[in-house]
Amino acid sequence: MVKNELRGIGSTGQICYFLGAGFSKASKYQLPTADGFLSLDMPIYCRDAVNEKHVIDVRARPDLSGLLSRLEARYGDLNSLNLESVMSDLYERSAGLGRAWVNRDASSVNELLTPGKVHWSTDQPPPPDGSELARDYALLLLLICLRLRVVEATNDECPMVRRLLSSLRLRDSIITLNYDTIIEREWKLSAGGRTSGDARADALGYYIGLPSPGYLTNPDMLYHVQPRVRGFYAKLHGSVDWRSCREPVCPNHSYIESTDRSRPDTFDAAEQWHCAACASIPETVIIPPVASKSFDRFPKLRLMWLQAYHALRIARRWVFMGVSLAPTDMHLRSLLRAASEEWLGAEVPGVDQICIVNKDDSACSKVARRLTECLPPQVQAVPSGSQPRIATFASIDDYLADAERVDSTRPA
Ligand SMILES: [Zn+2]
Repeated sequence: MVKNELRGIGSTGQICYFLGAGFSKASKYQLPTADGFLSLDMPIYCRDAVNEKHVIDVRARPDLSGLLSRLEARYGDLNSLNLESVMSDLYERSAGLGRAWVNRDASSVNELLTPGKVHWSTDQPPPPDGSELARDYALLLLLICLRLRVVEATNDECPMVRRLLSSLRLRDSIITLNYDTIIEREWKLSAGGRTSGDARADALGYYIGLPSPGYLTNPDMLYHVQPRVRGFYAKLHGSVDWRSCREPVCPNHSYIESTDRSRPDTFDAAEQWHCAACASIPETVIIPPVASKSFDRFPKLRLMWLQAYHALRIARRWVFMGVSLAPTDMHLRSLLRAASEEWLGAEVPGVDQICIVNKDDSACSKVARRLTECLPPQVQAVPSGSQPRIATFASIDDYLADAERVDSTRPA
C-alpha cells in the first residue's frame, strides 16, 4: 500500500468510481453517513403551501419525531445507531423472513398479562408493538428521503462533485451506494436543468424503467453489455427519487421510475405522484443491503448490477471514495470478488491500481483491509519488483488534485 501515488492508466483505460456515504458527507451538503444518521437534531426538506423549498427541523413533523422516539425505545440511544442496521431489521421483520413471527391479536393480548404484575419497568417503556414495524419501515424511508433531499433546497453547485464529474471521460463509470441524488443533480444543473445532462443517467433510467414503446414494435430480447464505449451510472442500493407501484398485481410493480430525472421541477414529487396504471400512491425504492427479495421484484436491477460488474471487470483503476465496505453488504463483496477474479484470465488486462479515498489514514487502512478480504488471494499478491496495487488518499481533494494532474492527457 502506498500513499498519494496515483499512476496514469494510458489513453484508453477506464476508471470505475465507487461512491459511499463518506463522499456525500465530504460534499458541500454534508449529508450524514449511516452512523449518526438518526438524530432528533436533523434538518429535513419540505415545501410550503406555495411550493417554496425549505429546510426545517425534524421535530416539526410529529410523525417523524414519533418514529425516532419509537426507534430509540426499540434499538437504544439514537446516536449509537447505524441506519442500515435499523433499516435491515425493520425490513426483515416487516417484509422479510420475520414477517410471520409477530402475531398480536389486539382482542386477546391482554390475557397474556398477569394481573398485578409489572411486565416492564415504568422508567423504561416496552418496545413498540410488533404490528407497527411495517408502518415504521415506511416512515423510515420517508425520513431518509426528506433528510437527503435537503440538497434540493439550494441551487448552488458543489465544487467537489463538479470537480469529480469534470474529470470523467465518457468511458468511465460511477457506481454509488448512496441514496442521495447529488451526482444527478450536478449533471442536471450543468445542463441548465432541462435534460439529465449525462448519457449515463439517461441510460440508468432506461434500464430500471418500463420497457420503452419501441420494445412493443421491435423487441430486443437479448441485451449486449458494451462498457468499452460508454461507462455506466449504477445506484446499487436505490435512490430517494425512485418510485414503484406498491400493488403486486399492477404491471408497474416490477419497474422503477425516477421522479426527478426527466421531469421539470414543477411540484413536490414525494407525495403527489400516482401510479399511471392503477392510481396507487407509489413507494420509494431504497434497498437495504440484506434485501435479496428486491431482485425478484425488480428483475431489471440485475441488469444494473450486471453493468456494474462489467464496469469493474474492465476498469484499469478502481477508486473507492468514502466507501466503508461494511462486512454485512454481501452483495457488494460478491460483486468485487467476481469482477476481480476476471483479472486472472486473459480476456481483460486487470486493474492497474486501486485507490482508496477516505477521511484519514486510519479509515483508509480499515477499508483496504476489508477490500483485500473481497479479492482472491492471487490478486492480493504483489509480484516482487512491481508496485503495490493499492494507493490511499486521506481526502477527496488529495485524490482530485492528483487526478487532475495525472489524468489531464487522457483523451475525451
Ligand atoms: Zn400500479
